[in-house]
Amino acid sequence: MQLIYSSLEILTNLDRESILKSIELAGRTCYKSEDKITSDSATYFAKMICKKGHGAVLEFGPDITVRFIIDRGVSHELVRHRLCSFAQESTRYCNYAKQGHVIFIIPPWVNLGPGEYTKLPTKLSESENIWFNSLLAAEKAYLELLQHNWLPQAARSVLPNSLKTEIVVKANIREWHHILELRCSKQAHPQMRGVMLPILNILKINLPEIFGDIEYD
Ligand SMILES: Cc1cc2nc3c(=O)[nH]c(=O)nc-3n(C[C@H](O)[C@H](O)[C@H](O)COP(=O)(O)OP(=O)(O)OC[C@H]3O[C@@H](n4cnc5c(N)ncnc54)[C@H](O)[C@@H]3O)c2cc1C
Repeated sequence: MQLIYSSLEILTNLDRESILKSIELAGRTCYKSEDKITSDSATYFAKMICKKGHGAVLEFGPDITVRFIIDRGVSHELVRHRLCSFAQESTRYCNYAKQGHVIFIIPPWVNLGPGEYTKLPTKLSESENIWFNSLLAAEKAYLELLQHNWLPQAARSVLPNSLKTEIVVKANIREWHHILELRCSKQAHPQMRGVMLPILNILKINLPEIFGDIEYD
């Protein structure tokens, strides 16, 4: 079996100027203040909109798309955000026997590096052993069921939450603000925070007017 870490990639070009300008262009309609648009008025306008809580105007910015490589448990939480668009690796159509192994995500509380594993590493603690062995057993059962002519959509029933999945998520800026507030909080699952905090930090740098108010411990 193969073990990897979670990761993410923001697929949208975060061109600050054009993002803020598209928000300003729509938003100034509300106040009929288009005549106040100057080369550097968009920053002030976006800040003002956020301060007022006029979040609907943020929906006029471009959508932001992120590709996540996470475990199925975290992806199940992610797809609860109803205002996003999703494209996710299918356990019905993907046959992991073709790659010769199943890929699982290493959670942050397991002290193990990425790599190919066929047997138990000696350095694991007792609880890590339990986790590791359960994945080896799941992989074995999955591959054996395929050999018994089960389809991937049937054999997948033995795969655990640690299974690696790839999911592309698209949402508007207002929805990302909402998601990041929820999923960067200390109440969020540590593996969810593990992928959301890097996104928040990138967005805080690129769009501080909009994401600068989200705080986390
Ligand atoms: C810490 C944490 C723990 C959680 N625990 C559980 C749990 O134990 N069990 C569980 O089932 N879920 C749980 N969830 C998931 C949670 O219930 C929501 O499904 C998820 O956070 C999506 O949030 P949302 O509904 O605010 O947002 P989105 O779906 O992203 O929607 C954004 C906003 O749009 C509005 N909106 C969207 N759809 C509607 C609608 N139909 N009607 C009215 N307004 C709408 C709301 O204002 C909403 O906040 C948990 C989430 C978190 C962050």
